[in-house]
Amino acid sequence: MLDSVRVRLTLWYVGVLALVLVGLSAALYAMVSRSLYADLDDNLRLSLETVAVKLVRELGEGTPERPAALDAINELSTREAAAVYSASGALVAEQPAQGGIHARPPARDSLRAGDIHLETETQRAGGDLVTRRVASQSVQVSAQNGPYVLVVSASFEPVTDELGDIRELLYVIVPASLLLSGLGGWFLARRSLSPVVAMSERAHRIGAENLEQRLPVGNPRDELGRLASTFNELLARLNESFSYQRRFMADASHELRTPLSVMRTATDVTLEREGRAEGEYRDALKIIDEQTRRLSRIVEDMFTLARADVGRQGLRPCDFYLDELVMEAARAAGVLAAHKGVEVMVAPAPETPFHGDEGLLRQMLLNLLDNAVKHTPGGGSVHIRLARSYASLTITVSDTGTGIPAEAQPHIFERFYRVDKARSRAEAAHAAGSGAGLGLSIARWIAEAHGGRLELGSSEAAGSTFVASLPSAL
Ligand code: ADP
Repeated sequence: MLDSVRVRLTLWYVGVLALVLVGLSAALYAMVSRSLYADLDDNLRLSLETVAVKLVRELGEGTPERPAALDAINELSTREAAAVYSASGALVAEQPAQGGIHARPPARDSLRAGDIHLETETQRAGGDLVTRRVASQSVQVSAQNGPYVLVVSASFEPVTDELGDIRELLYVIVPASLLLSGLGGWFLARRSLSPVVAMSERAHRIGAENLEQRLPVGNPRDELGRLASTFNELLARLNESFSYQRRFMADASHELRTPLSVMRTATDVTLEREGRAEGEYRDALKIIDEQTRRLSRIVEDMFTLARADVGRQGLRPCDFYLDELVMEAARAAGVLAAHKGVEVMVAPAPETPFHGDEGLLRQMLLNLLDNAVKHTPGGGSVHIRLARSYASLTITVSDTGTGIPAEAQPHIFERFYRVDKARSRAEAAHAAGSGAGLGLSIARWIAEAHGGRLELGSSEAAGSTFVASLPSAL
């Protein structure tokens, strides 16, 4: 049960409220009780004063001692016991309270002339022990009369009764308000946490197959609304990358299917009839060889892209000279270009030490040069140039080829994108060198993994220019 946030919130709420209520009630009770006891003492003092004034007046008018004292104490209510004693301790007059309770004088030496002495006394009345508050005072009436000891006592009962009533009230009010506020707290916690319950139920039903579903967002400005929105954004990103992966898988299998079906056709046709000439077998094997090369290239590209998906961790950096790498790539591309009658030219570059993944950067340059040579008709040329600016190195590959149509330009860096799919597939059936539309996306990833960029500088009917920029230091 304590595993529920709702229960814990309610318990905390009720616990803190209980502390506050109990503390407040105790303080209130202490204050009321102090003031009730002080009132009792004040009343006794007042009664003593009344008796003293009356006694002084009666004696002054010549009334004899006993009737004067009786008159004086008769002024008081019957709940108070009163008595007048002479200085020797003899009782002059007395009015006991209801129940035969007497006002007894205090010990002689505890009284000082004029002072009011207050004490609590217990006496037996009708078989019961009663506790009363007693006030006494020694009064000198005149040179001939006195001193007299006046004693008034009052019961604690009204005070204890009143305090008992207050206690009973608190015993009801405190638990009742705790119960009420506990119920209120429970209801409130339930209401405010209900969006969380709804969210978790919906989230429970979301899986890879229905990632387009979203969590309900109650109030987008409160904490839970923000949590739901953040979760929804996460779902959107996951959905995007899932659909990307699905597209990638579909495209990849599509690409792998073409060479495989070419090979199957070649073997089927060759094996259909027995006793073929050696030349026919050689032709079939040549086709299979071309297609396996093509398959290896696609698989290798896909492997590189899998490395791309882990980001920079996929790099194996080392120190080398970038100008030498550019020369080497140009030389390799030059061999292929020579067959086509295309010239590959390298602009002279200063010695450029570099720290990066040499293998990957070679692949980037070869992809760019391959594309340039592939799309440049015989008699054309491809230029590669390495230049250093303030904090970056720029490698420009330009050709005098066919150019890229404007509507295709925004897509050429996408995986498996080819400008003319039909033509490229047809070529693919015959040439191992034709790409699967992965070359530029791999080249761009390589530049980005080195903290740089790869852009299409320009492309028109007269040729295209690709610009790769790399930071001088990785
Ligand atoms: P592939 O590996 O199939 O060549 P890329 O990703 O390298 O795929 O290129 C994507 C598309 O961009 C290609 O289909 C090609 O038509 C076009 N392209 C790339 N480079 C050039 C270029 N230098 N000149 C003309 N078209 C190009």
